[in-house]
Amino acid sequence: MPVGQIVKAISGFYYVRSPEGEEIQCRARGVFKFKKKKLTPLVGDYVQYEMTGPGEGFVTSVEPRQTELLRPPIANVDQAVVVCSLREPEFQQMPVDRFLVHGERAGLDLVICLTKRDLVDDDSEVERIRAIYQTAGYPVIATSIRTQVGIDELKKYLAERTSVFAGQSGVGKSSLLNQLLPDRKLQTGAVSQKLGRGRHTTRQVELIPLGNGGQVADTPGFSQLTFQGFEPEELSDCFPEMRERSARCRFRGCLHLNEPGCAVKEAVENQEIHAGRYNNYLQFLTEIKEEQQRR
Ligand code: GDP
Ligand code: ZN
Repeated sequence: MPVGQIVKAISGFYYVRSPEGEEIQCRARGVFKFKKKKLTPLVGDYVQYEMTGPGEGFVTSVEPRQTELLRPPIANVDQAVVVCSLREPEFQQMPVDRFLVHGERAGLDLVICLTKRDLVDDDSEVERIRAIYQTAGYPVIATSIRTQVGIDELKKYLAERTSVFAGQSGVGKSSLLNQLLPDRKLQTGAVSQKLGRGRHTTRQVELIPLGNGGQVADTPGFSQLTFQGFEPEELSDCFPEMRERSARCRFRGCLHLNEPGCAVKEAVENQEIHAGRYNNYLQFLTEIKEEQQRR
């Protein structure tokens, strides 16, 4: 039986892209289970299907998922592009780190995309931000839809994989998606505010091919950024530059606060880990503990 990927879902129909690139309108046959739990097929799922007529068929089984996001609900995303503007609004590290932590926990590759490069005079701000994320190993791309700088570089990162865009509102996510997907005009901030909120949220997520083997979700991801369900011990695993060092901490389960023999704390003091990143780690750790107390 052929295996395709669900690229959109509308009122009970799953649209499965066949290996030949054809879209097949499918219904689901039977109840799917994974690890004994009932499983609803998601956009992004690889599925086996059976043709019943030209362009029509049934989904018969769902392949195991590599990754799974809840907002938007989408399976098998490889990468999140964390979007943040350089100006209007000003670059803010805290939300970027928040998105990165959630992306790490979901098992995604991560790229940082700075927008509105046309609003800064030179590269000094970009270089400052690059330095913050260098030890974490995240690529930083500076883009502008006005001057087109960085757009080709961004496209290279999107090739051959499934990506979702994430970032605070107003940073330019929809503008970037419109740039990448000129055939599908999404509402940018200016328009959607006029039409009222909630327009984006009712849209169905869809995977759109980019023509370079990559595809992007047309709805930005991770709108919910609380640390619900996080354990304090797993937070440093979501900071790559801490993850590799924490194995050398004297105590297992070290939270890298004030424990003796802490390899992470030592790296912060030697400026091998960026102090701003470590401070955000501390902030998120506090939030996780508060969250746990509320439970
Ligand atoms: P979103 O909320 O993240 O989807 O952000 P939007 O795409 O709606 O963009 C918010 C505002 O920033 C809009 O007014 C855009 O025109 C503007 N914007 C987006 N990209 C750029 C850019 O590269 N340069 C400049 N100067 N403005 C931009
Ligand atoms: Zn430690």
